[in-house]
Amino acid sequence: MKNFKDMGKKELGLFFEEIGEKKFRAAQVYAWMMRGIQDFKDMTDLSESLRERLSEMQNSGKIALTCAQIDKVQSSTSDGTRKYLLKLLDGNFIESVFMKYKYGNSVCISSQVGCKMGCIFCASAIGGHMRNLTSGEMLEQLIAIERDTKEKINHIVVMGTGEPFDNFENLAKFLRTANDEKGLGISMRNITVSTCGLIPGIKRFAEDFPNAGLAISLHAPNNEIRNRLLPINKSYPLEELMSACKDYTEKTGRRITFEYALIKGINDSLAHADELANLLYRGLGNRLCHVNLIPLNEVSESGFSGSGAKHTADFHDRLTKRKISSTIRRKLGADIDAACGQLRMKTEFSKNKDNV
Ligand code: SAH
Repeated sequence: MKNFKDMGKKELGLFFEEIGEKKFRAAQVYAWMMRGIQDFKDMTDLSESLRERLSEMQNSGKIALTCAQIDKVQSSTSDGTRKYLLKLLDGNFIESVFMKYKYGNSVCISSQVGCKMGCIFCASAIGGHMRNLTSGEMLEQLIAIERDTKEKINHIVVMGTGEPFDNFENLAKFLRTANDEKGLGISMRNITVSTCGLIPGIKRFAEDFPNAGLAISLHAPNNEIRNRLLPINKSYPLEELMSACKDYTEKTGRRITFEYALIKGINDSLAHADELANLLYRGLGNRLCHVNLIPLNEVSESGFSGSGAKHTADFHDRLTKRKISSTIRRKLGADIDAACGQLRMKTEFSKNKDNV
């Protein structure tokens, strides 16, 4: 089966040629797809007969126009955050989150079904990795949410379930379509990709997407703690990671955001704040870096607790004294388990859908 959302304009053009239609049909269908149209019958600038032909191909499973359907939506009562559960064609579920900010609408998308990185404080790791998402499945998360909210999305963060640099090819294709002015038209500057530190991915990202934003899930000021929290650190230890970060900033001139979840008794002392400051001075000369302090979202299975507001504020103050730029991230959607590390498939979530 050919899924249209997985095809770029060129591939779509070839498809139309192959079936003996004019190549320019691709641009028409592409435009309708980006506007969230799910039925060939609604593509009113195609001839009646072509619409019928495409619908027949769709009904017989030769082609597909959509690759995910919204299965359930949960809205936060406090801040307008909406969490979506989407069902993929193979029956897998993924989650995406819509967030409203003063500067516009942002969507956090998933890049894989499950995740194999195994960070021990993160809910996405429970249940393991099932498969990569295709570029179309990443795109569909945005298109489905724009259709549902009737709002334009202007920012993307690839910070949902999965490790995007473990799925680089599909991520790259997706980013190009999201950025394409005939695609979703989202500026690269408004797209941020977060990684747990896959160095080959960071290098490629600097080459291929120098205008997009990079976030690194750091969470620890030294190898000892990081090895424990993020097993990937054993393959790409902090010295190598910081050196890749330096190369990235030199190549792109862009600031890197370092995510740091404060975990009670593990990485949150003032000595840790000093160690973090030293790490960033050593690695980047304190240039082009910003620390995003995340109050840990508690995941029942992990047994970790968050650091509390006072402790978080003290950690933040210490970084400020050391002239490290940092902010404490506002928690969005915590009441609907949409916050960081809480995106995971809850079976009850889909089973109960008829009862809500
Ligand atoms: N795999 C990528 C992207 C997804 S994770 C990455 O690791 O960056 C999105 C962010 O949420 C990461 O910074 C991750 O470390 C963080 N996170 C995971 N679990 C969390 C939790 N329980 N509380 C706070 N942040 C968490």
